[in-house]
Amino acid sequence: MYVKKSSRIRHFYKKNHNERLSILQRFANLTSEEINTLKNLNTLDFNSANRMIENVVSTMPIPLGIATNFLINNKDYLIPMAIEEPSVIAAASSAAKLARISGGFIAQSSDPLMIGQIQLTKIKDLNKAKKEILKNKNELLILANQQDSILIQMGGGAKDIQVRILKTITGKMLIVHLIVDVRDAMGANIINTMSEKIAPLLEELSNGIVSLRIVSNLPIQRIVKATAIWQKELIGEQTVDHIIDAYAFALADPYRCATHNKGIMNGIDAVAIATGNDFRAIEAGAHAFASLNKKYKPLTKYYKNKSGDLVGEIELPLAFGIIGGITQSHPTAKINLKILNVKTSSELAQIIASVGLAQNFAALRALVNEGIQKGHMKLHSRNIAITAGAQNEIIDLVAQKMVKEKNISVQRAKELIKNYANS
Ligand code: NAD
Repeated sequence: MYVKKSSRIRHFYKKNHNERLSILQRFANLTSEEINTLKNLNTLDFNSANRMIENVVSTMPIPLGIATNFLINNKDYLIPMAIEEPSVIAAASSAAKLARISGGFIAQSSDPLMIGQIQLTKIKDLNKAKKEILKNKNELLILANQQDSILIQMGGGAKDIQVRILKTITGKMLIVHLIVDVRDAMGANIINTMSEKIAPLLEELSNGIVSLRIVSNLPIQRIVKATAIWQKELIGEQTVDHIIDAYAFALADPYRCATHNKGIMNGIDAVAIATGNDFRAIEAGAHAFASLNKKYKPLTKYYKNKSGDLVGEIELPLAFGIIGGITQSHPTAKINLKILNVKTSSELAQIIASVGLAQNFAALRALVNEGIQKGHMKLHSRNIAITAGAQNEIIDLVAQKMVKEKNISVQRAKELIKNYANS
C-alpha cells in the first residue's frame, strides 16, 4: 500500500541522533551506507577535499540540520540546511508548519536560462558590429552548442544572442549576451566554455578586441517565485498588520532592507551549502536583483488578502544545480539531494525560494512580537558558554542558568564557570 509521506513531524528537535536519522532514512529511502555517511560527522576525506580546492590542510565542518513541515506545490519535503547560526532551522520549520494549514507554498520558475557575457572593445562602428553579430546569430549558436552535446540531448543549449552597446568610463563597448538553457546544472562552467569558444568569431565579426568572457551572476531570466498564506487566526491580526509595516520599512529604507534580505539568505544559503551549490553566486544574483532599477529592494513582499490573512511572496533569480560542480561528488551533498528528492534544478530552486520566504516570515513574526533575541539567544547561550571557556557538562549548566537569569553574556558565563569550578 502506498502511504503518502509527510514532512509534518512532531517534535523532531526532541529526538536523539539515531531517531532523527531513522526518520530521515524512512522518508528518503536512504541506504545503511548513506546513513553511516551522515553519522560519520567528518565525511570529506583529505583526498576528496584536495581534489576540490588547492593547498588543503583540513576540512571545516558546519552543522547540518533538517527543516520539517514543508509542503511545496502539494509535495512534502524534508529540507537539509547547513548553517552555523542557531534558530534558523527552527524558524523555517515553524513558518512552514503555519503555512501548510493554508496549503503550503506555491512556487514556480522560468526555464533555467543563464547569461554568458563577452566584452568587445576598440570597435570603430558599434552599430555595424552589432548588426553583423546578429546577422550571424545562427552560426554563433551552432558553434556554442558544439561544446556540450549532453546539454543538447537534454533539451538545453545555447538559445539566443543579444547585443548591447554599453556606455562606460573608458568609452562605448559592445557586450554580447549568450543565452543558454543549462537544464539541471548551475551552468557557470558550461557558459564560460561556450563564451570562450565563440569569442574569436565575435572578434572577427565586430572588428574589435575581445576582453572578458564570463558568466553573469545576475541570471535575470532564471527567476523563481513562491507564495504562501498565513491565516490571521493563527498569527493574530495585529501581527499581520505589523509584518506589513515591517515590509514597508524595508521597502523604504536600505539599512533595514539589507537585514530583511539577509534573513532570507539565511535559509537560501543554508540549502545551497547543504546541496553543494555555489552560495556566493546565489548571493551575488540575489543582491544584484534587489538593486535593479537603482533602488535596493526587499526580495519578498507582504499584503493582506480579502480575508485579512497575510500573503507573502518572494521573487529572485536562483542558479542552482542538481548536477555538476560538487553536487554529485561531495558525499553529503549527494545524500542531501536524495533527501530532497528533486527531479530538476527548477524544482530545487522552487524549494529554496520557499525556504527563503519561510525564513523571512519567521524572522518578521519574531521581530514584531517578542523580538528576535529571546529565541535566538536561548539557542546561542551554549555558544556563549563555550566562548567563555566552558567544557563538557558545564556547557549546558552555564547555558541553562544564563537563560533562566535572562542574562546571556560571556562575562556572566565566565562568572558561572568559576562558580561551578569552586563548587
Ligand atoms: P559542470 O562544469 O560540472 O557542468 C555541468 C554539466 O552537467 C554540463 O556538462 C551539462 O551538460 C550537464 N547537465 C546539465 N543538465 C543535465 C542533465 N539533466 N543530465 C545530465 N547532464 C546534465 O558545472 P556547471 O554547472 O557548468 O558549473 C558550476 C560550477 O562552476 C560551480 O562549482 C561554480 O562554483 C563554478 N563557477 C562559478 C562561477 C561564477 O558563478 N561566476 C565562475 C566559474 C565557475
